[in-house]
Amino acid sequence: MKYLIQPFIILLLVASCTSQKESRSNINELAIDYVKLTLEIAAHDPWYWDDYYGPDSLKFTGVILDTFPKEDFLDRVSSLKLELDEVSMSPESSEEEKLRANWMSSQLTAVDRGIRLYSGEFGTFDEEAEDLIGVKVPRYDSTYFIEAIAELDTVLPGEGTFKERFDALISRFEVPEEKLDTCLKVAIEATRKITLERLDLPEDESITIEYVRDKWYKAFVSLLGPYQTLFAINLDYKLDIAELINYACHECYPGHHTYVAMQAKNIYVDKGWVEILDPENPWGGPQIVIEEGLAIYANEMAFPGESYYKFAKEVLMPLAGLDTTGAYAYLLVKRFARRKLTYAFNEAARGIVNGTMTEDEVTHWVNDFALRGSAIRMVKDSRTFVAHYSCGRDLVKNYIEAQSSSDDERWEAYGKLLSTLVVPKDLVKEE
Ligand SMILES: [Zn+2]
Repeated sequence: MKYLIQPFIILLLVASCTSQKESRSNINELAIDYVKLTLEIAAHDPWYWDDYYGPDSLKFTGVILDTFPKEDFLDRVSSLKLELDEVSMSPESSEEEKLRANWMSSQLTAVDRGIRLYSGEFGTFDEEAEDLIGVKVPRYDSTYFIEAIAELDTVLPGEGTFKERFDALISRFEVPEEKLDTCLKVAIEATRKITLERLDLPEDESITIEYVRDKWYKAFVSLLGPYQTLFAINLDYKLDIAELINYACHECYPGHHTYVAMQAKNIYVDKGWVEILDPENPWGGPQIVIEEGLAIYANEMAFPGESYYKFAKEVLMPLAGLDTTGAYAYLLVKRFARRKLTYAFNEAARGIVNGTMTEDEVTHWVNDFALRGSAIRMVKDSRTFVAHYSCGRDLVKNYIEAQSSSDDERWEAYGKLLSTLVVPKDLVKEE
């Protein structure tokens, strides 16, 4: 069930069709072709997730072929990409046309790679990442993780092995099920308030929380409309305080929910640019790098520095009825693990994709370096997808922090990234 919003696109299309340029290079027409083609590919690749909220006229209504039409899709992607590249390189194109053409072309590079992957045509980790992520994924060797874990070891209280002490510390800060709803709502309301003070969100934006059981996921976010998010939490899993704060920031404010609403309002409704209605490529892509980067950095936006510890220790922990002894060490460990150890997933994925690691080695990297449970299936199926998160976070963080020294400037930079079309290369600092 999709929510339909009425943009000014019809007006824009009429206006642009009567201008001097009536060729196929009209950027609005190319954008329509782009959305139609990607929706058709999505209809043929069951890994795509349907969150489309645009007009019915762009939907794919043809027959879904029994055999995936790989070559036909590749040809069509390639010729559309050529047309877009002509626009982005033409001296006659405006900056806006170049921006849009370049964004769609980068997305199509990822779509091309996705078609090949779905058809069982694989590349090396770096080849796949170059097309999907658009920047090189930095390498981290085992020494980096061994040193990081040794650093963490000095902060962990108690007796036993590193893993035993780590797990024991986390479990002390798990939110009891009967307190979960209250804590989650307080966390989301707090991040919403912080975000609304800085960003203009559509008035009817909202988050609906749903509690579920017997699902494969721990938490799941889907759209009820462009400004409305359904956030499902699986009660079969325990959530600790840091995870709960992270969900409020990453999934809600100023993370995914905020991103989708701002993109829909500022790009689709206000400008009538339909390209952002494209389906999310399950194999990854430049837009996902930026969106995930912003969602991960959302935690640092909402709770910079000490405010994170204060909110967790003085607001949420008492609300959850938790003893705050050791709270600082716990929060430090969680933040450290999320920021520094996440790269272990990239190396595990690199090992699987390149065939240079056995399953046991992958398990070792995920368990002992990323400090997560068995995730082989996830790493195996998603190939380079796991690297989108850390690459995106590093790009967004470095970009924002390089040009902003105050909180106001950080929010201004963050808000801009939420409201425009941007590809990972745009955020790479020029040396
Ligand atoms: Zn995310």
